[in-house]
Amino acid sequence: MFVLRRTDLLEAANITHIISVLRGRVDHKLIEPYATTGRHLHIEVDDDDDENLIEHFQTTNDFIDKATQGGGSVLVHCAMGISRSATICTAYLIYKRQIPSEVAMEIIRQSRPIICPNLAFRRQLEIYSENLEQALKNLDDVPAYQRYLYRKEVEMSRLAHKAPTINHYAEDESNEGSEVELKCRKCRRTLALSKSFVDHYAASPPVASSSRDRMLEAVGLNKSKCQHHFLDPVVWMKAELEKGEMEGKLECPKCSAKVGSYAWHGMKCSCGIWVTPAISLAKGKVDVSRPRSTL
Ligand SMILES: [Zn+2]
Ligand SMILES: [Zn+2]
Repeated sequence: MFVLRRTDLLEAANITHIISVLRGRVDHKLIEPYATTGRHLHIEVDDDDDENLIEHFQTTNDFIDKATQGGGSVLVHCAMGISRSATICTAYLIYKRQIPSEVAMEIIRQSRPIICPNLAFRRQLEIYSENLEQALKNLDDVPAYQRYLYRKEVEMSRLAHKAPTINHYAEDESNEGSEVELKCRKCRRTLALSKSFVDHYAASPPVASSSRDRMLEAVGLNKSKCQHHFLDPVVWMKAELEKGEMEGKLECPKCSAKVGSYAWHGMKCSCGIWVTPAISLAKGKVDVSRPRSTL
């Protein structure tokens, strides 16, 4: 941000375009020459865990591309040049060079060692680099991105003590038939495909890495005790999940057998791990069926 006032430095670095990544107004006088000629892009986000920066990557990448192709250079700034602007620059390197986010950040660190995108932005950069091809076509089609939006919505709603609005449900039919399925034990209806499974060991709340390792080690022995399959929302659950309740039961859509339950504030698996949010099918009510091709 402070660099904006150093017009001599901007000139020396051939800065022709500016991306401001922060909420609120940017000093009008400093920005005006860029803004009035379409050379200023303003992305209004805070440096918070709940901000979605990934949805802006295409806009910022296109803007940087256009500027540099015309022989210009771009100043990407936020308030301190540590988290938000570093995220935007990392996203550009991922897109341009098709490299993992950690590698891209390392390149930027060579010239600016203090960069440190917040954990949520790092996760978004990972989602972006791991699904780049699909993200460039249509970000909304990236399952990891949908899962990120879902978790964000559940977390925000949980803090407000209300049920979340679910915008995306996984289908319960696979086109490829190559996935592990969970079927109702009573009527054999397919209830979930492996793409909706939640690994509750990986999904448990983040704790300091050493104690997390110890915890996982401890529960690893208890894995066989799990009495639940945890899932992301599947389309047949829609009517129940949209009742606006904080918790409830799940019935098989075909035979109405009770097959599971959900709790937005979480539930404790029999292995000892808290899962939040928790949408669960009881192991005793469903059968795991593996695709024919791998039998
Ligand atoms: Zn468990
Ligand atoms: Zn059934």
